[in-house]
Amino acid sequence: MVRGRIAPTPTGYLHVGHARTFALAAQRTHSAGGTLVYRTEDLDVGRCRPEFATAAIEDLRWLGLQWQEGPDVGGQHGPYVQSQRLEWFRNVWRLLHSSGHLYPCDKSRKDVERALTAPHAEDDAEPIFPPVLRPAAGAGHEAREPGPMNWRFRVPDGETIAFNDALQGAQSFVAGRDFGDFLVWRKDGFPSYELAVIADDHAMDITEVVRGADLLLSTARQLLLYRALGWTAPAWAHNPLVVDASGKRLAKRSAGLSLRELRAKGMTPAQVLSVDIALL
Ligand code: GLU
Repeated sequence: MVRGRIAPTPTGYLHVGHARTFALAAQRTHSAGGTLVYRTEDLDVGRCRPEFATAAIEDLRWLGLQWQEGPDVGGQHGPYVQSQRLEWFRNVWRLLHSSGHLYPCDKSRKDVERALTAPHAEDDAEPIFPPVLRPAAGAGHEAREPGPMNWRFRVPDGETIAFNDALQGAQSFVAGRDFGDFLVWRKDGFPSYELAVIADDHAMDITEVVRGADLLLSTARQLLLYRALGWTAPAWAHNPLVVDASGKRLAKRSAGLSLRELRAKGMTPAQVLSVDIALL
């Protein structure tokens, strides 16, 4: 049984890039006779806003997307909402913690940058956490709850994480080189994206994850979480990112390219999904 999902983060209005990725997710699921799930990923409380969550649902319905599951909201399937699922995420933290994969971390981004010997290729990329800043083995093992503390997953340094992507082909990343120990829990009381997304894809029995190619590296991290938990990972399909006429990635705020604006300009859903971005 195929199960897919669309999982927007409501930090702004959806743009044409989101629309194409979500439409692809829906198409792949439905052409296999599967069930599509809608999930609102609203754990970044500082940046997410309920009006964007509502707008995303409206915009995707306008686009013609349909999902077959979720709590009843006004006679239609509503979304699963991550901010209502914190107890589940705490359970997953406990599973990872009790199997010895996590440690508490009080290092700031500045500490990390200071400990790095080589400067970073991409300045806005998350700096790779240097193993020298890891605490002694067993640190934090007495904790019963994450508490007001950052927690990181200890990656197997030097191990190659390989997977096959339905759209991008064979992928491989090296733990400790392409990414380091990553956050699974934030001291503000919320799980990180990496923990929440695998916890929910597992809980919702998702068999194929379709998302933007900017998340390929995250997939390598997420595969380590699946393995640590003894869970089967879904299949992956990472959609090439939509870029604008100058080759720049679309940000959620790209003026003129939000679904709302395109709709207001009189474009049809079919045009939004097919027109060359350079012409928009
Ligand atoms: N919520 C993420 C986003 O809107 C997508 C995460 C995922 O598909 O794994 O970018």
